[in-house]
Amino acid sequence: MPKYSFKCADVGMDCGFEIVNAGSEEELLEMLKIHAKDSHGVASIPPELLNKIKQNIRKTGKYYFSCSSVGMNCGFEIMGASSEQELLEELAIHAKMSHGMTSIPQDTLNKIKQNIKVM
Ligand SMILES: [Zn+2]
Ligand SMILES: [Zn+2]
Repeated sequence: MPKYSFKCADVGMDCGFEIVNAGSEEELLEMLKIHAKDSHGVASIPPELLNKIKQNIRKTGKYYFSCSSVGMNCGFEIMGASSEQELLEELAIHAKMSHGMTSIPQDTLNKIKQNIKVM
C-alpha cells in the first residue's frame, strides 16, 4: 500500500507540523482539517489551498506493472519502481524494443496507467 506524507512547511506555512506515512490521502486530509482548525484557525480549508496541499502530498510506495494486465502476452513485468514516472520511462524502452512502438498511443497509455499497481 502506498503511504502519504505532508508537512505544512511545503505549502509555505511557518509551522513544524508533519504527517508521515498516513494510509490514504483521505486519512491524511482528515487529520489536516483538525490541524488547520486547531493550529491555524482555518475552520474549513479553501479549495485553492486544498489543491496546493494535494499537490504537495508525497506518495511513497513501490510501483508494479505487467504487460499481461493490458493483454500483451510477452511476460514482461516491472516490480519495485519508486515512482510512476520511473516505471513509465522504463516501460517506454520495453514498448519500443519488444513491441516496436516508437511512442505509446494515448489510449494505450491510459490503459497502462489504470493497470499500474502501487504496493
Ligand atoms: Zn501547520
Ligand atoms: Zn511487453
